[in-house]
Amino acid sequence: MLFDEFMLIAARALKGYGGSASIEITAIVPNRRGPVIRWTAPRLATERAQVRKPGGGPSDGPVPGPVILDVLARTLQARWRYGTPRCPRDWDEQLTRRHRRVFGRMAPSTGPGWYWLWQAGADALTRAGLPRGFTTIDTKEKFGQARWDWHADEDSQVTEDLIEAVDMLSAWICEDCGRPGKLRRGSWIRCQCDRCAEGRAAA
Ligand SMILES: [Zn+2]
Repeated sequence: MLFDEFMLIAARALKGYGGSASIEITAIVPNRRGPVIRWTAPRLATERAQVRKPGGGPSDGPVPGPVILDVLARTLQARWRYGTPRCPRDWDEQLTRRHRRVFGRMAPSTGPGWYWLWQAGADALTRAGLPRGFTTIDTKEKFGQARWDWHADEDSQVTEDLIEAVDMLSAWICEDCGRPGKLRRGSWIRCQCDRCAEGRAAA
């Protein structure tokens, strides 16, 4: 289950990344903070590629695959911490209580399925060290994906990468329950798993 969720979300999120076929889980190690997924992806680039925009100069490509896999592994570690995943009813309060420096007093206004993703992002940012003056301006859902707006008084590539990875992974994680999901068409685009989508077609 944990294994399948990791491989499915990784395959979908990193589709189009060179070397993504080299992703493998090498071990799942029990830990009091939840099962640790050890993975390898020897052929994924660890730096952002330079891409040329039509009619413009070179600019940074998308967030490197290993950062996405790191945030995904942390998300699933939190999700499977107590066995079968169940999102606490006061997940948003718990999140802001535990990560006040990251979120301030404002909980993300999204569905509960992204609880573990927000948690993983906040954990990773804290562990990497928040840049000076880091402030979350807004955390919401837009066009089916998480949108994390933030500000800091100094540049931080690590912060930028981690937050972009959270936003990107949300397109592959059901906003209702946290299972692997896809963006669904409709009057309101949402990321949902097959079960929660109840027949809504993928976008
Ligand atoms: Zn779902």
